[in-house]
Amino acid sequence: MSQPYDRVILGDLVLPDGVMKGGYVAVRGETVAAIGRGEPPPAVETEDQSGRLIFPGLVDGHMHTASSIGWPGIEGATLSAAAGGVTTCVDMPYDIPLPVTDATIFREKVEWLHRLAHVDVALYGTIRKDGGAEAIAPLAEAGACSFKFSTYEYDAVRFPRIEPGLMREAFAEIARTNLMVAVHNEDQELVVKLTAEAKAAGHTDPIWHCRTRPPLAENLANLAIFEIGLETGAHVHIAHSSLARGFDIAESFRRSGARSSGEGCLHYFCMTEEDIVRLEGFGKCNPPFRTAEEVERMWAALLAGKCAYISTDHAPWQRERKIYKGDIFALGAGLTGMQSFAPVMFTLLEERGLPLTLMAKYLAAEPARYHGLDPKKGSIAVGSDADLCVIERGSFTFDEARILDRPEFRHSAYHGRALRGRVAATYLRGRRIWDGEAVLAKPGEGRFVPRQHDRPVALA
Ligand SMILES: [Zn+2]
Repeated sequence: MSQPYDRVILGDLVLPDGVMKGGYVAVRGETVAAIGRGEPPPAVETEDQSGRLIFPGLVDGHMHTASSIGWPGIEGATLSAAAGGVTTCVDMPYDIPLPVTDATIFREKVEWLHRLAHVDVALYGTIRKDGGAEAIAPLAEAGACSFKFSTYEYDAVRFPRIEPGLMREAFAEIARTNLMVAVHNEDQELVVKLTAEAKAAGHTDPIWHCRTRPPLAENLANLAIFEIGLETGAHVHIAHSSLARGFDIAESFRRSGARSSGEGCLHYFCMTEEDIVRLEGFGKCNPPFRTAEEVERMWAALLAGKCAYISTDHAPWQRERKIYKGDIFALGAGLTGMQSFAPVMFTLLEERGLPLTLMAKYLAAEPARYHGLDPKKGSIAVGSDADLCVIERGSFTFDEARILDRPEFRHSAYHGRALRGRVAATYLRGRRIWDGEAVLAKPGEGRFVPRQHDRPVALA
């Protein structure tokens, strides 16, 4: 090896099969050229992160940059991602004013992210509720990594319910692309009925958000989407299960020959119904927080290998739309999660005495694999993009005032939470874009990441 590397980064590498203490990542151009331990090889620049943990840059498989303010939201959300060690965002299609329902809109969104993004971004596509399954093949051709549908209507245009007949037609098209379709899983009729009853009885305080979206609402939807998946051959994925039961249903459908899976969001691994009582609107998300017992069942499901990966469901609403004034139903559903993702997961693993390799697997490698972004994204491996998330151990407190997004999005369900680590640096394609204090990347340095291949995802 005569030619020195462009950059060598020193630290303890968190790899899928263990932690390599005193390791290094050698970078050439934008990719990992070598990894090892001990005496580092010659390089033009050395970045000394010794004593810190170097994880693969996180891949958030489920986030919403543009639900509340449209595509300009890409800028702040990816700024926050850079500070949070998230180097690849997989962005949902439910944007205002127009959701990503055809290849023309898709390409326009790619242009926006090439102007605004601070980290790399992959994109979901979707269809209109009045049809549009013919857009599926062109969306896949344009580089969509996955599709997203919903059984629950949050908004008739932006976030519509797709009825079973259209879902069947669209899933059959999706099956031909080998892409995954993630589905928001709440039964429309049940939620609408329970919400109307609660409002009529004057029950509009925060806990009624949970009461009107009970586990049955999720499980009815899970059964419907997986049955349509079984019939059509599409890979159907629960966009977020707040319940271990969701993973069990996915597993039972796999045993019947379906291609079925599901992810959990980080808050379902630590938040409970008591937290929405405490946080009010700032703890409102769909599906809602469950019980402390359910949180334990979620961890058991993760450790049993039943959960595909963990995501944020980052969905920033303006603070004004989260302030409770007597009616929980009037508020926006969604939490911020970019800057809390890495430190909270790290802290939960440390508190529970679980291996840190779980973070490398379920917050990077597996979301990259499910969205067909491997081997480019999700791993510290020769040939992969040199995307890294560096964690420094210590005692910290999550402070929402330090969220780097627009002021109106600086709120967090984790505000005040004690943390065992912080993101001390982030590297995107070999370059340091966060130094623990400031984001060094400029808007537009992030790139669109198309799906890397059209092979179906191997399921357990
Ligand atoms: Zn979501």
